[in-house]
Amino acid sequence: MKPAGHAAVSLALGGGTYLVTGSPGSVGVALLTGVLVDLDHLPDFYRWFILDQSNRIWLLLHSYELLIPAILLSYATDWNPLALAGTLGFLVHLLCDQWANGVRPLTYFFTYRALKGFRTSEMAPWTAESVYSDLLHLPFMPRLLPPTIAWIRKLSRR
Ligand SMILES: [Zn+2]
Repeated sequence: MKPAGHAAVSLALGGGTYLVTGSPGSVGVALLTGVLVDLDHLPDFYRWFILDQSNRIWLLLHSYELLIPAILLSYATDWNPLALAGTLGFLVHLLCDQWANGVRPLTYFFTYRALKGFRTSEMAPWTAESVYSDLLHLPFMPRLLPPTIAWIRKLSRR
């Protein structure tokens, strides 16, 4: 799912959490966890687009296993609205990606990816070309992405 979709779903989720708990901070926390999970793409993008190594993908934060400490934290804080909103934002991010990204059923389990050697071919029909093309459909990316990749490649050669 694209960032705008994650933001919309997370805002709705945070709003629902606010209505139930009365904690306005839950909107911001759900939005943060629901969108920032995708920061884990950056190391993969570096390897894919700068080092030309797209045969592996890590997606370290896209891991259902991380729900365990998140749920334990929520429980330990007596279901603090902020902890609950963060946990729900994270869960819904994974579920939306599971639904929208065309991945294999177990792709968003870290254990599965590790057992498969993080081979991209075991996760989804993604290629560096298809992911690059998808990125170019995001706002501002046609003007930002090509020069940024060229600049980082130039820096990496030094
Ligand atoms: Zn994601």
